[in-house]
Amino acid sequence: MPQLDFHPSGRHFLQIPGPSPVPDRILRAMSLPTIDHRGPEFGQLGLKVLADVQKIFQTRHPVMIYPSSGTGAWEAALVNTLSPGDHVLMYETGHFAFLWNKLAKRLGLQTEVIAMPGEDGGVPRSWRHGVQANLIEQRLRQDSAHAIKAVCVVHNETSTGVTSDIAAVRQALDAAGHPALLLVDTISGLAGADYQHDAWGVDVSISGSQKGLMLPPGIGLNALSPKAIEASKQAKLPKAFWAWDEIIDMNRNGYWPTTPNTNLLYGLSEACDMLLGQGLSAVFARHQRWAAGAQRAVRAWGLEIQCADAQAYSPILTGVMMPEGVDADAVRQLIYERFDCSLGTGLGKIKGKMFRIGHLGDCNDLTLIAAIAACEMGMKVSGVKLAASGVQAAMDYFSANPIPALKRA
Ligand SMILES: *Cc1c(COP(=O)(O)O)cnc(C)c1O
Repeated sequence: MPQLDFHPSGRHFLQIPGPSPVPDRILRAMSLPTIDHRGPEFGQLGLKVLADVQKIFQTRHPVMIYPSSGTGAWEAALVNTLSPGDHVLMYETGHFAFLWNKLAKRLGLQTEVIAMPGEDGGVPRSWRHGVQANLIEQRLRQDSAHAIKAVCVVHNETSTGVTSDIAAVRQALDAAGHPALLLVDTISGLAGADYQHDAWGVDVSISGSQKGLMLPPGIGLNALSPKAIEASKQAKLPKAFWAWDEIIDMNRNGYWPTTPNTNLLYGLSEACDMLLGQGLSAVFARHQRWAAGAQRAVRAWGLEIQCADAQAYSPILTGVMMPEGVDADAVRQLIYERFDCSLGTGLGKIKGKMFRIGHLGDCNDLTLIAAIAACEMGMKVSGVKLAASGVQAAMDYFSANPIPALKRA
Protein backbone atom coordinates (compact mmCIF):
# COMPACT_ATOMS: atom_id res chain seq x y z
CA MET A 1 0.00 0.00 0.00
CA PRO A 2 1.39 3.42 -0.82
CA GLN A 3 1.25 5.74 2.13
CA LEU A 4 -1.79 7.82 1.23
CA ASP A 5 -2.54 9.14 4.70
CA PHE A 6 0.54 11.29 4.98
CA HIS A 7 -0.36 14.85 5.91
CA PRO A 8 2.27 17.39 6.85
CA SER A 9 1.13 19.99 9.38
CA GLY A 10 -0.55 23.15 8.13
CA ARG A 11 -1.87 23.73 4.65
CA HIS A 12 -0.20 22.68 1.46
CA PHE A 13 0.47 25.64 -0.84
CA LEU A 14 -1.02 24.59 -4.16
CA GLN A 15 0.50 27.35 -6.30
CA ILE A 16 0.31 25.57 -9.64
CA PRO A 17 -1.76 27.24 -12.36
CA GLY A 18 -4.49 24.67 -12.01
CA PRO A 19 -5.91 22.79 -10.32
CA SER A 20 -6.17 25.82 -8.06
CA PRO A 21 -7.10 25.65 -4.36
CA VAL A 22 -10.80 24.89 -3.79
CA PRO A 23 -12.43 27.22 -1.22
CA ASP A 24 -14.02 25.47 1.78
CA ARG A 25 -17.33 27.04 0.86
CA ILE A 26 -17.28 25.20 -2.48
CA LEU A 27 -16.15 21.91 -0.91
CA ARG A 28 -19.06 22.15 1.55
CA ALA A 29 -21.53 22.89 -1.26
CA MET A 30 -20.28 19.78 -3.05
CA SER A 31 -20.91 17.61 -0.01
CA LEU A 32 -24.71 17.88 -0.38
CA PRO A 33 -26.43 14.60 -1.23
CA THR A 34 -26.47 13.58 -4.89
CA ILE A 35 -30.02 14.03 -6.18
CA ASP A 36 -32.06 12.47 -8.97
CA HIS A 37 -30.78 14.04 -12.18
CA ARG A 38 -34.26 13.65 -13.73
CA GLY A 39 -36.12 15.05 -10.70
CA PRO A 40 -37.69 18.52 -10.38
CA GLU A 41 -35.03 20.05 -8.10
CA PHE A 42 -32.32 19.10 -10.53
CA GLY A 43 -33.92 21.11 -13.34
CA GLN A 44 -33.78 24.21 -11.13
CA LEU A 45 -30.10 23.64 -10.38
CA GLY A 46 -29.41 23.07 -14.08
CA LEU A 47 -31.15 26.27 -15.18
CA LYS A 48 -29.30 28.25 -12.50
CA VAL A 49 -25.80 27.05 -13.40
CA LEU A 50 -26.46 27.43 -17.13
CA ALA A 51 -27.55 31.05 -16.62
CA ASP A 52 -24.60 31.69 -14.29
CA VAL A 53 -21.94 30.37 -16.64
CA GLN A 54 -23.32 32.55 -19.43
CA LYS A 55 -22.54 35.54 -17.22
CA ILE A 56 -19.04 34.22 -16.56
CA PHE A 57 -18.35 33.89 -20.32
CA GLN A 58 -20.14 37.23 -20.90
CA THR A 59 -22.45 35.63 -23.45
CA ARG A 60 -26.17 35.43 -24.19
CA HIS A 61 -25.72 32.22 -26.19
CA PRO A 62 -25.75 28.57 -25.04
CA VAL A 63 -22.92 27.15 -22.90
CA MET A 64 -22.29 23.38 -22.87
CA ILE A 65 -21.30 21.82 -19.54
CA TYR A 66 -19.55 18.44 -19.87
CA PRO A 67 -18.36 16.00 -17.22
CA SER A 68 -14.80 16.10 -18.61
CA SER A 69 -11.46 17.78 -18.25
CA GLY A 70 -10.51 20.72 -20.44
CA THR A 71 -9.17 18.39 -23.11
CA GLY A 72 -12.65 16.96 -23.63
CA ALA A 73 -13.95 20.48 -24.21
CA TRP A 74 -11.17 21.04 -26.79
CA GLU A 75 -12.33 17.92 -28.62
CA ALA A 76 -15.99 18.93 -28.35
CA ALA A 77 -15.26 22.30 -29.98
CA LEU A 78 -13.54 20.64 -32.94
CA VAL A 79 -15.85 17.66 -33.56
CA ASN A 80 -18.97 19.81 -33.43
CA THR A 81 -17.79 22.38 -35.97
CA LEU A 82 -15.46 20.62 -38.43
CA SER A 83 -15.31 17.76 -40.94
CA PRO A 84 -12.57 15.19 -41.65
CA GLY A 85 -9.61 16.73 -43.48
CA ASP A 86 -10.69 20.33 -42.80
CA HIS A 87 -7.84 22.84 -42.82
CA VAL A 88 -7.38 24.49 -39.41
CA LEU A 89 -5.00 27.35 -38.60
CA MET A 90 -3.44 27.10 -35.12
CA TYR A 91 -1.10 29.55 -33.42
CA GLU A 92 1.68 28.18 -31.20
CA THR A 93 1.94 30.29 -28.04
CA GLY A 94 3.22 27.41 -25.91
CA HIS A 95 2.70 23.85 -24.80
CA PHE A 96 -1.10 23.96 -24.54
CA ALA A 97 -1.39 25.31 -28.08
CA PHE A 98 0.98 22.48 -29.09
CA LEU A 99 -1.21 19.86 -27.36
CA TRP A 100 -4.40 21.20 -28.92
CA ASN A 101 -2.75 20.85 -32.32
CA LYS A 102 -1.79 17.25 -31.51
CA LEU A 103 -5.38 16.49 -30.55
CA ALA A 104 -6.71 18.12 -33.75
CA LYS A 105 -4.36 15.98 -35.87
CA ARG A 106 -5.52 12.82 -34.09
CA LEU A 107 -9.08 13.75 -35.04
CA GLY A 108 -8.10 13.80 -38.72
CA LEU A 109 -7.91 17.55 -39.21
CA GLN A 110 -5.26 19.07 -41.43
CA THR A 111 -3.59 21.58 -39.16
CA GLU A 112 -1.24 24.39 -40.04
CA VAL A 113 0.71 25.94 -37.18
CA ILE A 114 1.99 29.49 -37.28
CA ALA A 115 4.29 31.10 -34.74
CA MET A 116 6.74 33.96 -34.34
CA PRO A 117 10.07 32.83 -35.81
CA GLY A 118 13.33 32.60 -33.89
CA GLU A 119 14.52 32.23 -30.34
CA ASP A 120 14.77 34.54 -27.37
CA GLY A 121 16.81 33.67 -24.28
CA GLY A 122 17.28 30.07 -25.45
CA VAL A 123 13.57 29.35 -25.92
CA PRO A 124 11.19 29.80 -28.88
CA ARG A 125 10.29 33.49 -29.23
CA SER A 126 6.67 32.54 -29.86
CA TRP A 127 6.58 31.03 -26.33
CA ARG A 128 7.36 34.46 -24.83
CA HIS A 129 4.76 36.57 -26.65
CA GLY A 130 1.02 36.55 -27.24
CA VAL A 131 -0.65 35.71 -30.53
CA GLN A 132 0.52 38.12 -33.23
CA ALA A 133 -2.78 38.93 -34.90
CA ASN A 134 -1.03 40.39 -37.95
CA LEU A 135 0.49 36.97 -38.76
CA ILE A 136 -3.00 35.46 -38.69
CA GLU A 137 -4.36 38.26 -40.88
CA GLN A 138 -1.52 37.81 -43.41
CA ARG A 139 -2.15 34.07 -43.64
CA LEU A 140 -5.91 34.48 -44.01
CA ARG A 141 -5.47 37.06 -46.78
CA GLN A 142 -3.49 34.46 -48.77
CA ASP A 143 -6.36 32.00 -48.41
CA SER A 144 -8.66 33.53 -50.99
CA ALA A 145 -10.36 30.16 -51.57
CA HIS A 146 -11.33 30.05 -47.88
CA ALA A 147 -9.88 26.59 -47.36
CA ILE A 148 -9.18 27.43 -43.70
CA LYS A 149 -12.27 26.51 -41.71
CA ALA A 150 -11.19 27.53 -38.22
CA VAL A 151 -8.58 29.60 -36.42
CA CYS A 152 -7.57 28.20 -33.02
CA VAL A 153 -5.82 30.29 -30.37
CA VAL A 154 -5.14 30.01 -26.64
CA HIS A 155 -6.28 33.02 -24.61
CA ASN A 156 -4.11 32.47 -21.55
CA GLU A 157 -1.15 30.19 -22.34
CA THR A 158 -0.74 28.36 -19.03
CA SER A 159 2.65 26.90 -19.93
CA THR A 160 4.26 30.34 -20.25
CA GLY A 161 2.18 32.98 -18.46
CA VAL A 162 1.34 34.95 -21.60
CA THR A 163 -2.14 36.26 -22.42
CA SER A 164 -3.30 37.00 -25.96
CA ASP A 165 -5.51 39.78 -27.26
CA ILE A 166 -8.54 37.90 -28.56
CA ALA A 167 -10.34 41.03 -29.79
CA ALA A 168 -7.31 41.68 -32.03
CA VAL A 169 -7.56 38.14 -33.47
CA ARG A 170 -11.25 38.76 -34.23
CA GLN A 171 -10.26 42.00 -35.98
CA ALA A 172 -7.66 40.09 -38.01
CA LEU A 173 -10.34 37.70 -39.30
CA ASP A 174 -12.66 40.60 -40.10
CA ALA A 175 -9.91 42.66 -41.76
CA ALA A 176 -9.06 39.70 -44.00
CA GLY A 177 -12.78 39.24 -44.73
CA HIS A 178 -12.34 35.56 -43.86
CA PRO A 179 -15.29 33.38 -42.78
CA ALA A 180 -13.30 30.88 -40.63
CA LEU A 181 -14.63 30.09 -37.19
CA LEU A 182 -12.71 31.51 -34.24
CA LEU A 183 -12.11 28.87 -31.55
CA VAL A 184 -10.50 30.04 -28.32
CA ASP A 185 -9.09 28.05 -25.40
CA THR A 186 -9.71 30.07 -22.25
CA ILE A 187 -9.32 27.06 -19.97
CA SER A 188 -7.06 28.93 -17.57
CA GLY A 189 -8.12 32.46 -18.50
CA LEU A 190 -11.82 32.32 -17.65
CA ALA A 191 -12.82 33.89 -14.32
CA GLY A 192 -9.33 35.30 -13.74
CA ALA A 193 -8.66 37.40 -16.83
CA ASP A 194 -11.33 39.45 -18.58
CA TYR A 195 -13.00 37.30 -21.21
CA GLN A 196 -15.89 38.48 -23.45
CA HIS A 197 -17.26 35.70 -25.65
CA ASP A 198 -19.91 37.82 -27.40
CA ALA A 199 -18.15 41.18 -27.61
CA TRP A 200 -14.99 39.58 -28.99
CA GLY A 201 -16.92 37.59 -31.60
CA VAL A 202 -15.64 34.18 -30.53
CA ASP A 203 -17.43 31.18 -32.08
CA VAL A 204 -16.47 28.55 -29.52
CA SER A 205 -14.84 29.36 -26.18
CA ILE A 206 -13.39 26.40 -24.33
CA SER A 207 -12.87 26.20 -20.60
CA GLY A 208 -12.65 23.93 -17.57
CA SER A 209 -13.45 23.92 -13.89
CA GLN A 210 -10.11 23.58 -12.13
CA LYS A 211 -8.53 26.96 -12.81
CA GLY A 212 -10.24 30.34 -12.30
CA LEU A 213 -13.54 28.71 -11.41
CA MET A 214 -11.90 27.33 -8.23
CA LEU A 215 -13.48 23.88 -8.60
CA PRO A 216 -11.89 20.45 -8.63
CA PRO A 217 -11.11 19.09 -12.12
CA GLY A 218 -14.07 17.48 -13.89
CA ILE A 219 -16.09 20.08 -15.79
CA GLY A 220 -15.38 21.05 -19.41
CA LEU A 221 -17.16 24.00 -21.01
CA ASN A 222 -17.99 25.20 -24.54
CA ALA A 223 -19.58 28.62 -25.04
CA LEU A 224 -21.16 28.81 -28.52
CA SER A 225 -22.05 31.45 -31.09
CA PRO A 226 -25.04 31.20 -33.44
CA LYS A 227 -22.53 30.72 -36.29
CA ALA A 228 -20.91 27.78 -34.44
CA ILE A 229 -24.33 26.21 -33.90
CA GLU A 230 -25.08 26.56 -37.62
CA ALA A 231 -21.69 25.00 -38.47
CA SER A 232 -22.43 22.06 -36.15
CA LYS A 233 -25.40 21.08 -38.35
CA GLN A 234 -23.07 20.46 -41.34
CA ALA A 235 -19.93 19.23 -39.51
CA LYS A 236 -19.04 15.61 -40.32
CA LEU A 237 -16.43 14.61 -37.74
CA PRO A 238 -17.90 11.69 -35.74
CA LYS A 239 -19.51 12.83 -32.51
CA ALA A 240 -22.05 11.38 -30.10
CA PHE A 241 -21.26 12.12 -26.47
CA TRP A 242 -19.96 15.60 -27.36
CA ALA A 243 -22.79 16.51 -29.78
CA TRP A 244 -24.30 19.88 -28.96
CA ASP A 245 -27.76 19.32 -30.47
CA GLU A 246 -29.25 17.02 -27.83
CA ILE A 247 -27.57 18.92 -25.02
CA ILE A 248 -28.95 22.28 -26.23
CA ASP A 249 -32.38 20.68 -26.47
CA MET A 250 -32.45 19.26 -22.96
CA ASN A 251 -30.67 22.24 -21.39
CA ARG A 252 -33.75 24.35 -22.18
CA ASN A 253 -35.35 22.76 -19.11
CA GLY A 254 -32.17 22.41 -17.05
CA TYR A 255 -31.42 18.75 -17.86
CA TRP A 256 -28.79 16.81 -19.81
CA PRO A 257 -29.11 13.76 -22.09
CA THR A 258 -26.59 11.80 -19.98
CA THR A 259 -25.86 11.84 -16.25
CA PRO A 260 -24.30 15.19 -15.31
CA ASN A 261 -21.77 15.56 -12.50
CA THR A 262 -24.33 16.65 -9.92
CA ASN A 263 -21.97 17.44 -7.05
CA LEU A 264 -19.58 19.42 -9.24
CA LEU A 265 -22.62 21.40 -10.41
CA TYR A 266 -23.38 22.28 -6.76
CA GLY A 267 -19.81 23.50 -6.62
CA LEU A 268 -20.19 25.41 -9.89
CA SER A 269 -23.30 27.11 -8.57
CA GLU A 270 -21.43 28.15 -5.43
CA ALA A 271 -18.38 29.33 -7.42
CA CYS A 272 -20.60 31.47 -9.65
CA ASP A 273 -22.33 32.96 -6.58
CA MET A 274 -18.90 33.91 -5.23
CA LEU A 275 -17.55 35.32 -8.51
CA LEU A 276 -20.71 37.14 -9.60
CA GLY A 277 -21.41 38.30 -6.03
CA GLN A 278 -18.02 39.98 -5.90
CA GLY A 279 -18.40 41.23 -9.47
CA LEU A 280 -16.22 40.07 -12.34
CA SER A 281 -14.36 43.38 -12.52
CA ALA A 282 -13.23 42.96 -8.88
CA VAL A 283 -12.13 39.38 -9.65
CA PHE A 284 -10.09 40.53 -12.68
CA ALA A 285 -8.55 43.44 -10.74
CA ARG A 286 -7.31 41.24 -7.94
CA HIS A 287 -5.68 38.81 -10.36
CA GLN A 288 -3.93 41.73 -12.08
CA ARG A 289 -2.68 42.91 -8.72
CA TRP A 290 -1.28 39.50 -7.73
CA ALA A 291 0.43 39.26 -11.11
CA ALA A 292 2.00 42.68 -10.56
CA GLY A 293 3.27 41.55 -7.12
CA ALA A 294 4.75 38.35 -8.58
CA GLN A 295 6.41 40.32 -11.40
CA ARG A 296 7.98 42.68 -8.81
CA ALA A 297 9.39 39.64 -7.00
CA VAL A 298 10.94 38.10 -10.12
CA ARG A 299 12.52 41.41 -11.10
CA ALA A 300 13.91 41.93 -7.60
CA TRP A 301 15.53 38.48 -7.79
CA GLY A 302 17.20 39.66 -10.98
CA LEU A 303 15.58 36.85 -12.98
CA GLU A 304 13.64 36.94 -16.24
CA ILE A 305 9.91 36.63 -16.57
CA GLN A 306 9.01 34.07 -19.27
CA CYS A 307 6.62 36.56 -20.87
CA ALA A 308 8.77 39.07 -22.77
CA ASP A 309 5.96 41.53 -23.48
CA ALA A 310 4.67 43.62 -20.55
CA GLN A 311 1.34 44.10 -22.40
CA ALA A 312 0.83 40.34 -22.36
CA TYR A 313 1.66 39.44 -18.72
CA SER A 314 -0.79 36.83 -17.51
CA PRO A 315 -2.96 37.72 -14.50
CA ILE A 316 -3.19 33.96 -13.79
CA LEU A 317 0.42 32.87 -13.44
CA THR A 318 3.99 34.09 -13.76
CA GLY A 319 6.71 32.07 -15.47
CA VAL A 320 10.15 32.40 -13.85
CA MET A 321 13.15 31.61 -16.06
CA MET A 322 16.16 30.04 -14.36
CA PRO A 323 19.68 31.18 -15.19
CA GLU A 324 21.68 29.04 -17.66
CA GLY A 325 22.82 25.79 -16.06
CA VAL A 326 20.17 25.67 -13.30
CA ASP A 327 17.66 22.83 -13.54
CA ALA A 328 14.30 24.47 -12.80
CA ASP A 329 12.73 21.09 -12.00
CA ALA A 330 15.33 20.34 -9.34
CA VAL A 331 14.58 23.71 -7.72
CA ARG A 332 10.86 22.99 -7.88
CA GLN A 333 11.31 19.58 -6.32
CA LEU A 334 13.36 21.01 -3.48
CA ILE A 335 10.67 23.66 -2.82
CA TYR A 336 8.05 20.92 -2.74
CA GLU A 337 9.98 18.65 -0.42
CA ARG A 338 11.31 21.29 1.95
CA PHE A 339 8.48 23.84 2.04
CA ASP A 340 5.36 21.90 1.02
CA CYS A 341 4.64 24.28 -1.86
CA SER A 342 3.70 23.06 -5.37
CA LEU A 343 4.81 25.11 -8.36
CA GLY A 344 4.13 24.50 -12.05
CA THR A 345 6.79 22.66 -14.01
CA GLY A 346 8.26 23.87 -17.30
CA LEU A 347 6.38 22.04 -20.08
CA GLY A 348 7.54 20.77 -23.45
CA LYS A 349 10.13 22.97 -25.15
CA ILE A 350 10.88 24.88 -21.92
CA LYS A 351 11.13 21.88 -19.60
CA GLY A 352 13.82 22.40 -16.95
CA LYS A 353 14.33 26.02 -17.99
CA MET A 354 11.59 27.67 -15.94
CA PHE A 355 8.90 27.14 -13.31
CA ARG A 356 5.49 28.73 -12.89
CA ILE A 357 3.91 30.48 -9.92
CA GLY A 358 0.12 30.27 -10.05
CA HIS A 359 -1.85 33.21 -8.62
CA LEU A 360 -5.39 32.34 -9.55
CA GLY A 361 -8.68 31.59 -7.92
CA ASP A 362 -8.79 31.27 -4.15
CA CYS A 363 -5.54 33.13 -3.50
CA ASN A 364 -4.71 36.19 -1.41
CA ASP A 365 -1.74 38.47 -0.76
CA LEU A 366 -0.40 36.29 2.04
CA THR A 367 -0.68 32.95 0.23
CA LEU A 368 1.15 34.50 -2.70
CA ILE A 369 3.83 36.02 -0.46
CA ALA A 370 4.26 32.58 1.13
CA ALA A 371 4.71 31.01 -2.31
CA ILE A 372 7.23 33.69 -3.25
CA ALA A 373 9.05 33.04 0.06
CA ALA A 374 9.14 29.31 -0.73
CA CYS A 375 10.65 30.14 -4.14
CA GLU A 376 13.19 32.48 -2.60
CA MET A 377 14.30 29.98 0.05
CA GLY A 378 14.34 27.13 -2.46
CA MET A 379 16.43 29.06 -4.98
CA LYS A 380 18.90 30.16 -2.29
CA VAL A 381 19.30 26.59 -1.06
CA SER A 382 19.80 25.51 -4.69
CA GLY A 383 22.57 28.06 -5.15
CA VAL A 384 20.71 30.37 -7.54
CA LYS A 385 22.20 33.86 -7.25
CA LEU A 386 19.49 36.39 -6.37
CA ALA A 387 20.00 40.15 -6.67
CA ALA A 388 17.57 41.13 -3.91
CA SER A 389 14.58 39.83 -1.97
CA GLY A 390 11.51 39.16 -4.09
CA VAL A 391 9.46 38.67 -0.93
CA GLN A 392 10.29 42.21 0.16
CA ALA A 393 9.44 43.58 -3.29
CA ALA A 394 6.06 41.81 -3.29
CA MET A 395 5.30 42.97 0.26
CA ASP A 396 6.18 46.54 -0.68
CA TYR A 397 3.94 46.38 -3.74
CA PHE A 398 0.95 44.90 -1.92
CA SER A 399 1.32 47.35 0.99
CA ALA A 400 1.50 50.35 -1.31
CA ASN A 401 -1.42 49.17 -3.48
CA PRO A 402 -4.31 48.11 -1.25
CA ILE A 403 -7.32 46.29 -2.73
CA PRO A 404 -10.19 48.80 -3.02
CA ALA A 405 -12.48 46.80 -0.76
CA LEU A 406 -11.80 43.46 0.85
CA LYS A 407 -15.21 41.80 0.51
CA ARG A 408 -16.05 38.67 2.50
CA ALA A 409 -17.55 35.96 0.33
C1 LIG B 1 -5.27 23.12 -18.11
C2 LIG B 1 -5.30 23.51 -19.53
C3 LIG B 1 -5.66 22.61 -20.55
C4 LIG B 1 -5.90 21.15 -20.32
O1 LIG B 1 -7.00 20.89 -19.59
P1 LIG B 1 -7.17 19.47 -18.88
O2 LIG B 1 -8.23 19.80 -17.88
O3 LIG B 1 -5.85 19.12 -18.29
O4 LIG B 1 -7.61 18.51 -19.89
C5 LIG B 1 -5.71 23.08 -21.84
N1 LIG B 1 -5.42 24.34 -22.14
C6 LIG B 1 -5.04 25.23 -21.20
C7 LIG B 1 -4.69 26.62 -21.62
C8 LIG B 1 -4.97 24.84 -19.88
O5 LIG B 1 -4.57 25.70 -18.95
